Amino acid sequence: MRKNITLYTIVMIIMLSVTISIFSLYNLRKTGIKSAIHNAQSISEVVKSGLTAHMINGNMQEVDTFINSASNIKNVEQLWLVRSKYVNEQFPTSHLKNPPRDEFDKEVLQTGKMKYSIEEEITSTTVRVTIPYNAVAEKGIDCLKCHQVKQGTTLGAVSIVLDISTIKEIGIESIYVITVLILTTIILFILVSKRLINPYLRLFDKFKLNINQATHGRFKGIVPPIGLSAEMINITEDYNNLIQSFKDTAIDIDKKLKGFVGFKNSTKNRNPLKDSKEIIDNLSNLYQFKKQIELDNTKEEIYNRLAEVLKNKFNLKNFTFIEIDTKKYKMSKMLERGESFYCKDALLTNPESCRAARTKSDVMSVDFHNSCPHFNSKDKFYYCFNVDITQNLYLIINCVCDTKKELEELKDKTIFIKSYLKESIPSIEVKLLMNALQESAFRDGLTGLYNRKFLEEYTKKMLPQVRRDGTKIALLMLDMDHFKSVNDEYGHDIGDKVLRELARILNETVRESDIIIRYGGEEFMILLMGVNSADDALSVARKIGDRVRENEIDVYAGTKLRKTVSIGLSMYPEDSTSFETIIKNADIALYKAKNSGRDKVIRFEEELVSSVDLF
Ligand code: GH3
Ligand code: MG
Ligand code: MG
Repeated sequence: MRKNITLYTIVMIIMLSVTISIFSLYNLRKTGIKSAIHNAQSISEVVKSGLTAHMINGNMQEVDTFINSASNIKNVEQLWLVRSKYVNEQFPTSHLKNPPRDEFDKEVLQTGKMKYSIEEEITSTTVRVTIPYNAVAEKGIDCLKCHQVKQGTTLGAVSIVLDISTIKEIGIESIYVITVLILTTIILFILVSKRLINPYLRLFDKFKLNINQATHGRFKGIVPPIGLSAEMINITEDYNNLIQSFKDTAIDIDKKLKGFVGFKNSTKNRNPLKDSKEIIDNLSNLYQFKKQIELDNTKEEIYNRLAEVLKNKFNLKNFTFIEIDTKKYKMSKMLERGESFYCKDALLTNPESCRAARTKSDVMSVDFHNSCPHFNSKDKFYYCFNVDITQNLYLIINCVCDTKKELEELKDKTIFIKSYLKESIPSIEVKLLMNALQESAFRDGLTGLYNRKFLEEYTKKMLPQVRRDGTKIALLMLDMDHFKSVNDEYGHDIGDKVLRELARILNETVRESDIIIRYGGEEFMILLMGVNSADDALSVARKIGDRVRENEIDVYAGTKLRKTVSIGLSMYPEDSTSFETIIKNADIALYKAKNSGRDKVIRFEEELVSSVDLF
């Protein structure tokens, strides 16, 4: 920049000087020629007067001497006279013939107009001027007195060659002077620019470099060059303050915010501005996400939202959300996108075998060697995120990649993904707590089975569905035989234990889709959902009776206890389309079982209504 300005200015000075020189030389030459012509005209007037005088005085023989003396005038190189044919014709005997010397003379004699030419030679420059003498008839001079010609006829001409070399010399001198002036100006300019302009140009260069570095995230102040004005020093200081505050803000954002959202640290080519923008973008996205999940109703909705983020924001194709409850030894698949659940079989049989949940850390493919033995797809790669929701509940997000490159890309994103997972935990915990609260209201504390309140809520939703589907329900009403004696004999604690044992047997005997309710103290209701027939239901009921009968309960050291149950069975909608009636019917059947010896299963029949005097 600085070099360019100096160069341009010098070139401009030279160009301007050359133009001025050419213009001056041209003018000088023009003036010289003009003055030579003017001189020639003056000389011609003198010669004309001399000639006239000689003529009037009749001593024309002296003309040559006169002309010779005129030739001696300064700068006159040659001077000669030519006569026109009219004069020669009038004075044929005169010794002054003076014929035209060249075409130039002839032309002037013919036209009667002045003509000049310039002769340039290396050493000299001359102007030749030929001026005609035209016949005039005026008061002072009346040529027609002597010459028998018309007025205006060209009588002769005088040619004068004048030396104007001195003009050339002046021109060369001028060029010398101009050159010296140019050189002096250039030297002065360089000196002045060094002193005055250079600091500004250097500052400009520094700004240029500094701004370029700042756009790449390298914030540095500028040391102002010496020689700047106070105003420029102030501007530089303001700029330095601005850069410093940019730097501080970027570092602040970097330090304070990246912990919230996670950040991929790379030492290479870091740009705090870009980093800050990225951090703020991520933070804003995360904030939006957090706001949304806070408004979600269920844990499942949160999982779905997380899945959307993984799919749309982090471009994950194959992943499964698995919940592992280490307390209940339970694994639940919460959702699946694409194909990823390659460890399903192992987790189903033993949920605790999940390496991510067990080690409470993320587990991933290491090269081709799979660090988790349960992942059974050898040509795929996995990354399992472990999210501790509560002390016993882990959310494992099992992600599967088709290529190693995909896995590497995923690894780069894990820090961001984790910030989303971290933000989700409190909301998931809240939902779990709410679920637990809801659960506890519907559960019996002693056995963990559903209670009557649950039955009320459940039947409201379940019965319309059963009606629509046209399926059947078998309702078993079960009561332990002579349970009071257990309490009486062994105490309430053993009584409680017997009830828990019964609950366990019921859980183990019926299907998971069936509903077991603790209906009263030692009275239970079992809904066999979608049962085929009353006979099937009877066999399930008998199986329960058998298992209870066979079950030995440790009462205290060495003493074992066996109990039996009585069961009444009623079918919905076979026996009645009213569920209340079905319950009553099962009760009637149970009553019959009790009355007819206990430890048996009785199917409700209409006849029982009259034979059993219940109410
Ligand atoms: P039956 O064969 O006629 O059914 O005789 P039973 O003794 O089983 O019948 P009863 O209804 O007379 O006795 C029920 C007893 O169950 C009375 C009550 O003290 C006891 N019981 C009810 N709830 C609980 C409980 O939560 N824990 C314990 N230990 N006992 C309970
Ligand atoms: Mg009983
Ligand atoms: Mg009872």
